[in-house]
Amino acid sequence: MYPVNLYNTLTKKVEPFRTNEEGKASMYTCGPTVYHFAHIGNLRSYIMEDVLEKTLRYAGYDVKRVMNITDVGHLSSDADTGEDKMLAGAKREKKSVMEIAKFYTEAFFDDCRKLNIKTPDVVEPATNCIQEFIQMVQKLLDTGYAYVAGGNVYFDTARLENYYVLSNQNEEELMVGARDDVEEDENKRNKADFVLWFTKSKFDDQELKWESPWGVGYPGWHIECSAISIKHLGERLDLHCGGIDNVFPHHTNEIAQSEAYLGHKWCNHWFHVLHLNDNTGKMSKSKGDFLTVSLLEEKGYRPVVYRMFCLQSHYRKPLMFSYDVLDNVKVAYEKLTKRIAGLSGEGQLQEEQMRGFEDAFAEALGNDINTSQALTVVYDVLKSELNDSSKRALIEKFDQVLSLDLLREEEAEEVDGELKAFVEAKIEERKAAKKAKDFATADAIREELKAKGIEIKDTREGTVWSVVE
Ligand code: AMP
Ligand code: ZN
Repeated sequence: MYPVNLYNTLTKKVEPFRTNEEGKASMYTCGPTVYHFAHIGNLRSYIMEDVLEKTLRYAGYDVKRVMNITDVGHLSSDADTGEDKMLAGAKREKKSVMEIAKFYTEAFFDDCRKLNIKTPDVVEPATNCIQEFIQMVQKLLDTGYAYVAGGNVYFDTARLENYYVLSNQNEEELMVGARDDVEEDENKRNKADFVLWFTKSKFDDQELKWESPWGVGYPGWHIECSAISIKHLGERLDLHCGGIDNVFPHHTNEIAQSEAYLGHKWCNHWFHVLHLNDNTGKMSKSKGDFLTVSLLEEKGYRPVVYRMFCLQSHYRKPLMFSYDVLDNVKVAYEKLTKRIAGLSGEGQLQEEQMRGFEDAFAEALGNDINTSQALTVVYDVLKSELNDSSKRALIEKFDQVLSLDLLREEEAEEVDGELKAFVEAKIEERKAAKKAKDFATADAIREELKAKGIEIKDTREGTVWSVVE
């Protein structure tokens, strides 16, 4: 078993990953809110969590991973105000909430498939678990951790010694840092209290509602992840992950209600992925025009190129999206897969020498999921003295974690086709610039291609190009 060191948001340290049961890892992931397509920012989180899961498997863990699908209860502000996102989606598309949920859940898994993100072992929509939520809320009421006010059930954060275990927030920061759209909810005893169960008294037009001991209503957003995790992974969770915006209030509330309910510590390790930003700031579904995997495909990028774009950066650093960088990754990816496709597959496996590379790969990932270092190991293998079949075998093994389709030979030809289309479009652009006597642009295009390892030459027959190794 390889050691894995991970940054833990709970302790704010990189520490050895330890599990409750030896060799087994329970992992919970906050799933998407299925009111719209996932944007490539959301998918950054799911790509890095996928690498995390596969790293644990590579290291020797037997992983059980569970993910919810949020199809009810997530309001437009994470702080229990505004409209239910699902309802807003249904209104936007003049469909029912369940139709919207089905459509966007399928779209989410289509995107995941294209990005080689493994489907978790259990995927559970929130609307499947209403009875579990009710039972959990009832126990929190019975033990005095929750109260009913104005028809809703709230969690009483004053009952906890340290509500802000995860986020180090204090009341003041909460007030200052609060979102613009935070409305005062007069039913709350404390500002940080959050809703466990809404009743019709708050949202009359809510489409999906269920009977409960507190009236017909629907669950708050946070309760679903606690209940679904406990249902499938038991009372002691090893690892919980999500995007950085989930730290507060969502994960802070999950810890509060889960530990109050269970009466002991719940999850040991918290993993958070920093955001993908674009030049207007954080990517967000509510901004209307946002980047999706399909849009990247329409623009000629294969989805794994975006996966590689993500793997080149560390998950704990914010990542800026740009087409220039994506273009560079595309060229690098094409060169890499071409090089791998050229390996002959000849020779006996040199197991002894291979082990050093296997260890280096595990060490890179075990070093807080250092994916760019892990990619470097792939290049080190290619540059090494190993014979072709050993190189192939190693890359095949590494690709179980990287999932970049590094070995698909039939794809390699297509890759060539893509590169060809890209370079030829640039050559056409340059030709037009030269015709318009815009030599600065023509030179800039030549330099741009050169920076990507492509050399062009003007001949009597026209412009020809070649890849410089
Ligand atoms: P949602 O569908 O809004 O519930 O979000 C799904 C996941 O995407 C959550 O784990 C979020 O924390 C994460 N997320 C949201 N925006 C971004 C972003 N710009 N970059 C990376 N992850 C994000
Ligand atoms: Zn969650």
